[in-house]
Amino acid sequence: MRTKILRFALVLSLIFNMTSFSYGWGKVGHHIIVEVAKNYISKNVQDSVTKYLGDMTWESASTWMDELRGDSKFDYMKKWHYINIDKGGQYDTTIEHGNNVVKQLEIAINNLKNKSKLTKEEINLNIKVLFHLMGDLHQPLHVGYGNDRGGNDIKLTFNGKQLSLHRIWDTDIIESKNTTNDVLSLLSKTSHRKIKKMAKGDIVQWFTQTREALNLAYSYTDVIGEDYINKCYPVIENQLLLGGVRLGSILNEIFKN
Ligand SMILES: [Zn+2]
Repeated sequence: MRTKILRFALVLSLIFNMTSFSYGWGKVGHHIIVEVAKNYISKNVQDSVTKYLGDMTWESASTWMDELRGDSKFDYMKKWHYINIDKGGQYDTTIEHGNNVVKQLEIAINNLKNKSKLTKEEINLNIKVLFHLMGDLHQPLHVGYGNDRGGNDIKLTFNGKQLSLHRIWDTDIIESKNTTNDVLSLLSKTSHRKIKKMAKGDIVQWFTQTREALNLAYSYTDVIGEDYINKCYPVIENQLLLGGVRLGSILNEIFKN
């Protein structure tokens, strides 16, 4: 009997793993974004944000929204990680009644700009949402097309494994390289003027800019080879850098006092 239950549980977990939806850059991608932001902001701003995070590190705060999957208390956040718009379509504020990454980022930033009206717990929650969604906003397949659920339905072969296009962008290309070092070194080599330029704009403009990488993402072949990785990797590095710099710029503005 026990073996049967175990076997049943194993089958269930296999099914779950096969059909589960990817929720954002993998851990590494989110960690890079907060690390870049930390390097970009002033010491005072960093201390202030750290204080609101309490026991949590910046890294764990950045992936908190992925880790609460399965906790029904937070089911209302399920759709916040992405937005689906068909090719050629435009953003509009009514998509999914605002339950999407663009609108929810605007809300979190606005909440934090008025943080004097919030409790410490509310500030903590909004920072975690901001950290995570600034990452997701910069992953092209999180702002992709609805017909294949942001590349989740496209199955390709990567290093001998069957993986979705979405997951290859979230995790596998990043983990196949020394991405953390590469992005931090890119940050150190980028001029102050260029970084200031990167930080300009608003959430909708950044969403539009991230979508520009979709044509590249969709230029795959059934078996992912070095050529695809080599052409996508610089874009992935740049998206992680942009996400981090822009997160830093938002934090500077909100927590400077
Ligand atoms: Zn996510």
